[in-house]
Amino acid sequence: MTLGEKRKVLFEKIKDRAFGRDGIPCHVRDERDINLSYARCPKCGQEMMDVYVSSSAEYWQNLCGREWRVQVCLGCGEEGEAQLLRMN
Ligand SMILES: [Zn+2]
Repeated sequence: MTLGEKRKVLFEKIKDRAFGRDGIPCHVRDERDINLSYARCPKCGQEMMDVYVSSSAEYWQNLCGREWRVQVCLGCGEEGEAQLLRMN
Protein backbone atom coordinates (compact mmCIF):
# COMPACT_ATOMS: atom_id res chain seq x y z
CA MET A 1 0.00 0.00 0.00
CA THR A 2 1.29 3.48 -0.81
CA LEU A 3 1.28 6.25 1.77
CA GLY A 4 -1.67 7.84 -0.04
CA GLU A 5 -3.67 4.61 0.21
CA LYS A 6 -2.78 4.16 3.87
CA ARG A 7 -3.88 7.73 4.57
CA LYS A 8 -7.24 7.08 2.87
CA VAL A 9 -7.86 3.83 4.73
CA LEU A 10 -7.04 5.27 8.14
CA PHE A 11 -8.81 8.59 7.51
CA GLU A 12 -12.06 6.72 6.70
CA LYS A 13 -11.65 4.72 9.90
CA ILE A 14 -11.03 7.63 12.28
CA LYS A 15 -12.53 10.76 10.70
CA ASP A 16 -15.47 10.76 13.14
CA ARG A 17 -13.50 9.69 16.18
CA ALA A 18 -12.75 12.12 19.00
CA PHE A 19 -9.20 11.95 20.31
CA GLY A 20 -7.64 13.75 23.24
CA ARG A 21 -6.68 12.62 26.70
CA ASP A 22 -8.18 15.36 28.84
CA GLY A 23 -11.82 15.67 27.80
CA ILE A 24 -11.19 18.16 24.98
CA PRO A 25 -12.31 16.39 21.76
CA CYS A 26 -9.76 16.53 18.92
CA HIS A 27 -10.29 15.34 15.35
CA VAL A 28 -8.16 14.59 12.34
CA ARG A 29 -8.92 17.26 9.72
CA ASP A 30 -7.18 16.07 6.59
CA GLU A 31 -5.65 12.90 5.13
CA ARG A 32 -2.32 14.72 4.94
CA ASP A 33 -2.31 14.92 8.74
CA ILE A 34 -1.63 11.16 8.76
CA ASN A 35 1.99 10.05 8.43
CA LEU A 36 4.15 6.98 8.67
CA SER A 37 5.52 5.88 11.99
CA TYR A 38 7.84 2.98 12.72
CA ALA A 39 5.75 1.60 15.57
CA ARG A 40 3.81 -1.64 15.42
CA CYS A 41 0.44 -2.20 17.05
CA PRO A 42 0.77 -4.00 20.41
CA LYS A 43 -2.64 -5.59 19.84
CA CYS A 44 -2.57 -6.90 16.24
CA GLY A 45 1.03 -6.31 15.07
CA GLN A 46 0.09 -4.07 12.13
CA GLU A 47 1.62 -0.75 11.26
CA MET A 48 0.83 2.28 13.43
CA MET A 49 0.47 5.74 11.83
CA ASP A 50 1.19 9.16 13.35
CA VAL A 51 -1.98 11.23 13.31
CA TYR A 52 -2.11 14.97 13.98
CA VAL A 53 -5.41 15.96 15.64
CA SER A 54 -6.70 19.26 16.94
CA SER A 55 -9.73 20.69 18.70
CA SER A 56 -12.19 22.91 16.86
CA ALA A 57 -11.90 26.72 16.73
CA GLU A 58 -14.45 27.28 19.50
CA TYR A 59 -12.14 25.56 21.99
CA TRP A 60 -9.25 27.78 20.97
CA GLN A 61 -11.47 30.84 21.34
CA ASN A 62 -12.33 29.68 24.85
CA LEU A 63 -8.62 29.22 25.57
CA CYS A 64 -8.74 25.47 25.95
CA GLY A 65 -7.55 24.37 22.50
CA ARG A 66 -5.39 21.30 22.04
CA GLU A 67 -3.19 19.70 19.42
CA TRP A 68 -2.00 16.12 19.79
CA ARG A 69 0.03 13.66 17.82
CA VAL A 70 -1.52 10.23 18.36
CA GLN A 71 -0.40 6.85 17.08
CA VAL A 72 -3.24 4.83 15.58
CA CYS A 73 -3.13 1.31 14.14
CA LEU A 74 -3.87 1.05 10.44
CA GLY A 75 -5.37 -2.42 11.00
CA CYS A 76 -7.51 -2.46 14.14
CA GLY A 77 -7.64 1.27 14.93
CA GLU A 78 -6.07 0.82 18.37
CA GLU A 79 -4.74 4.07 19.87
CA GLY A 80 -1.16 4.04 21.06
CA GLU A 81 1.04 6.80 22.40
CA ALA A 82 -0.21 10.37 22.40
CA GLN A 83 1.97 13.44 22.62
CA LEU A 84 0.55 16.87 23.48
CA LEU A 85 1.92 19.37 20.94
CA ARG A 86 0.20 22.61 21.91
CA MET A 87 -2.43 23.94 24.31
CA ASN A 88 -3.82 27.29 25.31
ZN1 LIG B 1 -3.80 -3.05 15.57
